[in-house]
Order: sequence, then structure tokens, then C-alpha cells
Amino acid sequence: MKTIFEKWQRDDNGFTFAKLDVPDNEAVPEKFLRKSLELPIISEPEVIRHYTTLSKRNFGVDLGFYPLGSCTMKYNPKINEDVARLAGFTELHPYMPQSSCQGAMQLMYELTDYLKEIAGMDAVTLQPAAGSHGEFTGMMVMKNYFQEKGASRNKVLIPDSAHGTNPATVTMSGLTCVQVKSNQKGTVDLDDLRNKMDKDVVGIMLTNPNTLGLFEEDILEVIRIVHDKGGLAYCDGANLNAIMGLVRPGDLGFDVIHFNLHKSFSTPHGCGGPGAGPIGVKEFLKRYLPNPSIEKEDEIYRFFYSKDSIGKVKAFYGNFGMLVRAYTYIRGLGSDGIRLAAERAVLNANYMKERLKPHYHLTYDRICQHEFVIDDSNMPNGVTTNDIAKRLLDFGFHAPTVYFPLIVQGAMMIEPTETETKETLDQFIDALIQIKHEAENEPDKVKNAPWTTPVKRVDAVKAAREVDITYCTICS
Ligand SMILES: *Cc1c(COP(=O)(O)O)cnc(C)c1O
Repeated sequence: MKTIFEKWQRDDNGFTFAKLDVPDNEAVPEKFLRKSLELPIISEPEVIRHYTTLSKRNFGVDLGFYPLGSCTMKYNPKINEDVARLAGFTELHPYMPQSSCQGAMQLMYELTDYLKEIAGMDAVTLQPAAGSHGEFTGMMVMKNYFQEKGASRNKVLIPDSAHGTNPATVTMSGLTCVQVKSNQKGTVDLDDLRNKMDKDVVGIMLTNPNTLGLFEEDILEVIRIVHDKGGLAYCDGANLNAIMGLVRPGDLGFDVIHFNLHKSFSTPHGCGGPGAGPIGVKEFLKRYLPNPSIEKEDEIYRFFYSKDSIGKVKAFYGNFGMLVRAYTYIRGLGSDGIRLAAERAVLNANYMKERLKPHYHLTYDRICQHEFVIDDSNMPNGVTTNDIAKRLLDFGFHAPTVYFPLIVQGAMMIEPTETETKETLDQFIDALIQIKHEAENEPDKVKNAPWTTPVKRVDAVKAAREVDITYCTICS
């Protein structure tokens, strides 16, 4: 497909408005104007067709099933958008006096209350802009806590099944990662944990349910081992979708947790754009949270600044538009709805797992939470996870998360979420079963897929080694 620059005929075939017959109002002085911007001049219908065609090459959850494990690509209800577009929210300015934005402050205050209740925590900040940003905020809170006590702890324990952001965060926080092994069941190996938990350890960073979709059933013991040696327990709450309304990480003993509003609470995954990764903490860590927090006194909402705060992690108060969407989602579902969403997410994952079990190798044959992992160990004719992921695109589905978690060779991690119908789940399962038959009978069909997408199989090595993502007309 041609780029918009290539469509530009270089002759002036755009539309020009008629000359003004009234005086020009405050025109920009001539000296500030460029002679030419080198922007393509194209008729309006051509521009519309160009971008509409491009948009049809995109894939998103509004177009089809998106079972990307660990990412919780659930449908984002459009009422969230309606509410976020109310003028009272969109026309706010962060420097407005607090007295004139009490409604927005009330929304933020109440959202922190809901998140506290869902996670079993005592205080919440809404500032971090992503899950990983929340992890960083949480690590800094934990680090400050020990620094103030004069303790020179510098290690953080992370299970080998962890999401890549966990070790990255720990390293960015100036701390050192120590890996804890998983056992045969896919959960934390308690003996390895006991050996590694010592007086230099800040704490453990644990995802529960973990990235294999398994609930850490020894969680109380895990946290006891860490607490007994004076460490803290951090919960990577990105997978809260499986347990919200059912289990509260704070009740299990976790001291800090981050939420991914753009996963469990149905705000859009920003494609690098705005996300929101609030964190919750227990009372004894509250004073370290980023400034400001919101307090309520005599029905008035005020920003509160703690002198022990780790500082700011985001300009102003966080990605406010995302907070409005998450608030709308939580209010829309209510506490029963939140629990039902988690129950359905778990039911959907287990249904898919059981139907796929006769055809694909199920890495851990146990009841799963919101996601499960299959692998390519029983694939005939050298068909790999990568081939299966590519072939799925021909059926109109997004591929699952592949080759993660790292402890499973050829992993395919499938997370259906609660917002899909049984028909959709069945179609996806049937596609995977058909791909298995193709792998047996006509493997080239799988190995050379995709066949129907605008871009066919790319050379992944070349794409990674010789990255060229620019298109240049002006400089060539
Ligand atoms: C998505 C995810 C994260 C990181 O969240 P971002 O918002 O992408 O930074 C961390 N841990 C787990 C388990 C996740 O699934």
C-alpha cells in the first residue's frame, strides 16, 4: 500500500477555502510562517480512504478475540468513554483551584476507596502511569522504609516465572534481583525461598495468581517466611482479574500491591499511551506514598502532602481520564459484578483448557485461574509455537502470548477474559484443533502462515537486527 506521501501528486489538488471577505483576525506575523511544510496535498476523500483503509489493517479487541495471556485484553465498555468525555472532566485544568474541582477530587478519592477495599489495603495512590511504574513506586516506598530504619537491605526475591518488568523495576530502583525457583507444580519452591531469604532482603515481589495462571497455594507460608526475616511482601497485582471480589491480597499478608487499571478495570491498553498503575499499601507505609494524596475533611476534598513521601512519580495526579474510566467500570459492576467478572474469567479459562487438553500439551495439568499455558512439545513435523501463533491470524484471532513465561519451552499463554461468549471460545478452540490437524497432515500450511494478513511471514531475525521503521520523502 502506498503511503500518503506517495499518493501526493505534487500538483495542488487539495481544497482551498474561498478568500475571507472579512478582516483577518490576529493573523500570525509573516516572519513566523514557513514557506512550505512539505505536507502532502490530497483531496479530502483520498485522505479519509487512506486512513480508513489503514485502520482496517489494525487488530483490536473491538474487532476480534484477543487472548493475550497476562495482558487481560477484556472488552472496554463504551459507557466508560461516555463518562470520560463529559465536559466537567475534559475541561479541567490541573492548576484550577481545589474548590472548583471538588467533583473530580471526589471521584479520585472514591476510586482509592474502592481499590483499597478490593485489595485489602489501607491507602492507595493513583499517580503511577503503568503497572511497571507502580512497581517502581512500590519498590521506592519499600526502599525508603528500610532506609529510614537504617537497614542496609538491598536484595529482592523474584520467582523465575515473573513478568519481565519485575526484575527491570528492581534493577531500576538500585536494588539487586535474586531469583527463586518454581517447583514441579509451577509455584514457589519453599525450600529455595527459605535458603535465599536473609537479612539483606528487602522483600519478595510475587505475582498471584502467577504468570502460569496458577494460584500460589502456599502463599501464606511464602509471606510468613519473608516477614519472619523482617522483609516485606510486594504483590504484582496485574493478574487481579482472577481474584477481585474473591480474595484480598492485603488479607493474605501482602504489604504493597499495584493494580493495572488498563487490565482488570477495563481502561484501554494505551499502545504506549496512557495507562494507570495505582498502588496500595498497608498503614505503616502510607506516609511514603507519592505526593499529593487526597483527604476528605468536613465534606471537602483536599490535597495532602506528606513530608516522608518518596516524591512525585507523575506530573499532577496521574492519568485522570483513565481514573474516570476505571471508576465508571467499578461503579457499573458493583461489588457483585466485580466478583462475577473474576469468576467468569476463571471459568472461561478452565473451559478452554479442558477442551484443548486432548489436543495440546498442557504444561501444568491443574485447575487454573484466569489463564493457562500450553506448549508445542507434542507438535508433529517440527511445527512450533511461532507457527501456530502465525496460523491463528488467518482465522481472524490475535495470537496468545508466546514464549512466556520463560520457564516453559514454547509456551502459549491463553487468557480469554470474562467478556467473551462461549461461541467465541469454541471458535478459537476449533481453530487450534484444526491447526493441530494441519500440523499432522499439511505442515507447510502452518509453517508458512499467515496467508491472509496484509503482511505475510516476516523474517523475525532480520526485523530485529536491521530495524528500519522510518519512511522518508523529504530527506531522500
Ligand atoms: C502487564 C504486567 C505488568 C506490567 O504492567 P504494564 O502496565 O505493562 O507496565 C507487570 N506484571 C504482570 C504480571 C503483567 O501482566
